[in-house]
Parts: sequence; C-alpha cells; structure tokens
Amino acid sequence: MINKKIYQQLIQDTQSYKAKLIAVSKTKPLGDIKDFLNMGQFDFGENYVQELVEKQQHFNSSPYWHFIGHLQTNKVKYIAPWIHLIQSVDSIKLLKEINLYATKNQRIIPCLLQVHIAQEESKFGFTIQILEKEISNICPEKFPNIRIEGLMGISTFTKNTIRIRQEYKKLKVFFDQLQSYKNKILNFNTLSMGMSNDYQIALEEGSNMIRIGSLLFGSR
Ligand SMILES: *Cc1c(COP(=O)(O)O)cnc(C)c1O
Repeated sequence: MINKKIYQQLIQDTQSYKAKLIAVSKTKPLGDIKDFLNMGQFDFGENYVQELVEKQQHFNSSPYWHFIGHLQTNKVKYIAPWIHLIQSVDSIKLLKEINLYATKNQRIIPCLLQVHIAQEESKFGFTIQILEKEISNICPEKFPNIRIEGLMGISTFTKNTIRIRQEYKKLKVFFDQLQSYKNKILNFNTLSMGMSNDYQIALEEGSNMIRIGSLLFGSR
C-alpha cells in the first residue's frame, strides 16, 4: 500500500529545501509505481538490474529510472540505453564500462559517484581519501560519454542521529570541496543523501536529493 499522505508531506519538505524526491520502488509492484506516476512523481530508484529491466519494459518514456544499487560491470549493458541517472558508481572500472555502453548507445549517461561514509564495511563506494586522488582522472577526456553530476552517500544504519549527522556533514564538506575544484571537468550539482529514516537530517545538512522507499511504499 502506498502512502499518499506521507508523499504530500515529502513533496512539501523537498520543496522547502529545493531538493528532489526519488521514490525507491525496489521489490514493489508496478501498480504502486503507476499510482505515484498518476500523482506526478516521475523519478524512481531501483537496486537490481533484472528487476529494473522487467519493470522498465512496461512503460514508455516515463518514469525516469535511477539506479541506486551496487552495479556489476557485466550488467551495465542492460540499462545503458535508457537509464536516467546511475547514482552508485563506485569504481573506475565501472565508469569505463558505463562509458563504453554509453558510447555504443550514442548517449551521455549522467552518473553520481558513490562515497563511502558509513561505518559498515559492507557498504560500497569510494572513500573520500581515494576519490580525492582519483578525481582528476575522472574527466571528459577519459570518459566523454559520462557526465558526473555529483555525489551519493548512504549513512550508517543506526539510531544514533549524531553519527548520521556527522556523516552527512562530512559528505557535504567534500561535495563543496569538489565543486570549487578548479578543473572545469566536473559539473557537480547533485548531492544525493537521505533515506526514510534520516532524510530530515540529510536535508538539514545540505542534501538536494533524497531517496525514499519504505516511507512511501510500506516496509519491504
Ligand atoms: C533501499 C534504498 C533506499 C531507500 O531506503 P528506505 O529506507 O526504504 O527509504 C535508498 N537508497 C538506497 C541506496 C537504497 O538501497
């Protein structure tokens, strides 16, 4: 069951922070997605390639699909023709593959670099340290068919809101640092952080894109 009341609330929250709402529809049925489309929600996030490909086939130009899960290089080709934004780029190897299939499809694929900010080692993403070193190599000369639009981060799964706030603060500082980077290669404007349990903190700390699943669609 989708939650329309919470949707209206989230629309208000995101508008007051000039942020964008991504409805995370992983594991949820097509009917739920259609209900949200009818309410004017066009951006949806999915984590699994096979599930996304199956869902995508049922629609025409909308929705705008965001890939937010760990993406294996051998699966890039399935989503490359139509993916709207890949938010979870976590290696140079993956960037190379995305660029290859973007070229084959004669398009530019917008991407966010995923930054590892959580305590859990299980989570993916570049560490800030590594990205600081690698960022100069992530340029249009090397990846002409990719447009890097910003960063994505996932906080530690915890009730400790102080820790969550610290992690988002840290990512915002890094985001600002990269934005002011002299090299014109980067066209950073998106900072994707915040999920159902912590989006308020994320917005307060400078997020301009939140990814909300369970609040909108019910628990998985
Ligand atoms: C599942 C998922 C979400 C949504 O999580 P909820 O807690 O259900 O809002 C957001 N971002 C990523 C990367 C996810 O995997």
